[in-house]
Amino acid sequence: MDAYRTKSSETIREAVGTARLKDGRTVRRLVDKSLLRGRGPDIRGYVQMLFLFITLWIGVDFYLFVGGLERGVASATARPPGVESFLPISALMSFRYFILTGILNHVHPSGFFIFVAILLVSTLMKKGFCSWICPVGYISESLFELGAKMFGRNFRLPRVIDVPLRSLKYLLLAFFLVAVSALSVDELRSFIYSDYNKVADIKMYLFFAHISTAAILVIGALVVLSLLYKNFWCRYACPYGTLLGITSLIGPMKIRRVEQTCIDCGKCADACPSLLPVDKLDAVNSPECIACYSCVEACPVKHTLNMSMASGRKGLSQKQYALLLLGVYFGIVGVAMIAGLWQNSLSPHEYLELFRNIGSISHGF
Ligand code: SF4
Ligand code: SF4
Repeated sequence: MDAYRTKSSETIREAVGTARLKDGRTVRRLVDKSLLRGRGPDIRGYVQMLFLFITLWIGVDFYLFVGGLERGVASATARPPGVESFLPISALMSFRYFILTGILNHVHPSGFFIFVAILLVSTLMKKGFCSWICPVGYISESLFELGAKMFGRNFRLPRVIDVPLRSLKYLLLAFFLVAVSALSVDELRSFIYSDYNKVADIKMYLFFAHISTAAILVIGALVVLSLLYKNFWCRYACPYGTLLGITSLIGPMKIRRVEQTCIDCGKCADACPSLLPVDKLDAVNSPECIACYSCVEACPVKHTLNMSMASGRKGLSQKQYALLLLGVYFGIVGVAMIAGLWQNSLSPHEYLELFRNIGSISHGF
């Protein structure tokens, strides 16, 4: 079916094939040659690299910050606030605390703003966080692409395993949501301002800096599974992506298919990393859609698949989507920075004190 990429009109007729009308007659489906197109530049890849670079930068800064604590010196400005994006449970608690009290905590304020920015992106623009921003999503995608090169294809779990395994992430999310919802305002405040929450980022760093054999084995298994199956971690285990998938159902933006110009080639479904039957749907309503544009890019007929607010409305190009996503995300982060709410209020002296006793600090649950 790659025939539609050639210039000959004869080949185009062959590519569009035939369609059966309701009265049983069969007609040839024709598509204007000018609508057939090739692949455009992959803007998403550049955005993913940008966020990977930011993550690595934060990682190096945080490494230097903890190194300073280990040597007994600390500077408040050396700690990159962006590290709080790796504390989603703490951010969820901060979010609920803010909803209940209107108070923005000053222990991990940037974690709160990043959480809000990600929720907003997902509500307005599908689960774009997973395929445009999240470094784990980027690594996952790179791994399955590498796996496809190594094994000639990616594999697919049988439905009887796939469906129950996919419920795992919903159970994990339900566990966290129920646990956080059960906390009173006093309990939330007590956790947010606890020593454990104050050093949660440092504890996470130490976990990876002194990683156990069991953790290496788990990560190794995930890497192997990610080579074999598309987005294994995101599809089966990530509760954060699951939350975003649910919020993404609220928004009007969706991948929509124009039935009249669709030539039923199935390229979109083949390209979809979330294994969605895009070629059979008028609009993709699934919480699994990560707004990656792979289907749009794979579709040979221009304007047949669009990311749009309603059917018949002009779709957002990848470039427009990228600008909107970056605008919403960095808009919220920028406002927090300009308003002086980005940095936390812990002093270098407090960090040094906490670090000296870090072995004895636990969450107390
Ligand atoms: S390929 Fe299309 S339907 Fe599938 S996840 Fe990406 S944007 Fe959504
Ligand atoms: S919407 Fe899917 S099936 Fe239809 S033409 Fe595009 S790629 Fe082919």
